[in-house]
Amino acid sequence: MAGYGGQQVVVVGAGRSGRSLADFFLRRGARVILSDSRTTAQLPDCASLAAQGVVFDFGGHSPRWFASADLVVVSPGVTLTLPVLETARQRGVPVLGEIEIAFRELKAPLVGITGTNGKSTTTCLMGEVFRAWGRKTFVGGNLGTPLIEAVEQHWDWLIAEISSFQLEAVENFRPRYGLLLNLSPDHLDRYPDMNAYLAAKQRLFVNMKESDVAVLNGDDPQVVSLVGDGVCRKVLFSSSRPLEQGMSLEGKDLVWRWRDTEQRFNGAELRLCGGHNRENVMAALIPPLLEGCPPATAWAAVCAFGGLEHRMVRVRDLDGVAWYDDSKATNVGSVVKSLDGLAAPVTLIAGGRDKGGDYAPLAKAVEGRVAHLILIGEAAERMSRALHGRAAIHRIPTLKEAVRLARQLTPSGGAVLLSPACSSFDMFRSYSERGELFSHYVQQLPESAEEPT
Ligand code: ADP
Repeated sequence: MAGYGGQQVVVVGAGRSGRSLADFFLRRGARVILSDSRTTAQLPDCASLAAQGVVFDFGGHSPRWFASADLVVVSPGVTLTLPVLETARQRGVPVLGEIEIAFRELKAPLVGITGTNGKSTTTCLMGEVFRAWGRKTFVGGNLGTPLIEAVEQHWDWLIAEISSFQLEAVENFRPRYGLLLNLSPDHLDRYPDMNAYLAAKQRLFVNMKESDVAVLNGDDPQVVSLVGDGVCRKVLFSSSRPLEQGMSLEGKDLVWRWRDTEQRFNGAELRLCGGHNRENVMAALIPPLLEGCPPATAWAAVCAFGGLEHRMVRVRDLDGVAWYDDSKATNVGSVVKSLDGLAAPVTLIAGGRDKGGDYAPLAKAVEGRVAHLILIGEAAERMSRALHGRAAIHRIPTLKEAVRLARQLTPSGGAVLLSPACSSFDMFRSYSERGELFSHYVQQLPESAEEPT
């Protein structure tokens, strides 16, 4: 356990992780300054931290705290290019991330799960498997409970979703298993280019040793090559070809070949649908199987898993039209996967805050499948230019009107899909709020018999 007694620690970001970090450092005897660009009025209540002597530096970051700190710790989501962080670094003050601090305290083996899409689903799936196997398992990280909140308890296993932002500020962080599910352009509003995004993802593996295992998407050469040879063992999964060693999708079956054993699982038994979820299931099974979890236990746990909210959830069937909430699809790669699972004619509702990526890769998935593309939000202009001629395009000011229009445009036998390819912050507080409102508007639509003429 690291000692922080008497040290001055600046925690940047006063959201849930930041407040948990402040708590953690207080318990370790540090003097804590909590710094956030938001004002007190914009932040959740921090009264209990104030009562314990935490100093607040809100409404901006005062350089004096950073210059005199012994340690600066950033919450996930805080950009590392903040000038005050540079000031700290220049003075030799370590600037570390929340997962690094947590890792230094944690004793249990850790699985770190990253990738552009599927992190949350895979993290929860794997958590279910370890729990079904009777292991006391922490599930969290970038999803739900921050890793720093795991430090006060005993765990057998830690399963953590890790974002690229979190990986930017690690030093010794070393998972026993590192999963890289896939890579496609995302967050290009925060990274100068794709290479910078890849470099952040690569950091998951930098401290791994021979006894550790990288679980990688064998269908993506970029994923496999991102982990250097000889660093740690690589175990692959593939949906496109049988693997001699590893996990592959062969017809409907998921096939696990390891050493001289072969285990077949019937994919038709899964509640999760879509090819992308087969990939998530394959990835989630590998660590527990390598650890000796009985295959039947692991399989029963993944089969029972019904999926997470706002990820291709069928919210209503109305007059022969299926309505799907895929509000969590905040980049092009995830929308392509979601569209691939649907047959024409689809009405796609997309748009939101532009993350700077290229929308052109959507064109192939849209063409011939999406009859109507309803665009909302700030990205509508760029998206309509990129997808011009691929579908009938309608630009609509609100989500509510988009739902009404989708109702009029979509014939029986078709589907309406909210899968934005953008973040939600231009019109909503979060992707969850966007998805909940979508479901609400869809539930409000009258049956055709009730519709006014
Ligand atoms: P993340 O935590 O990486 O954002 P989620 O599990 O929350 O991933 O899924 C986010 C979106 O990505 C969902 O809309 C889902 O349909 C899509 N998705 C999930 N898994 C994959 C995958 N393996 N490949 C591509 N897209 C995926």
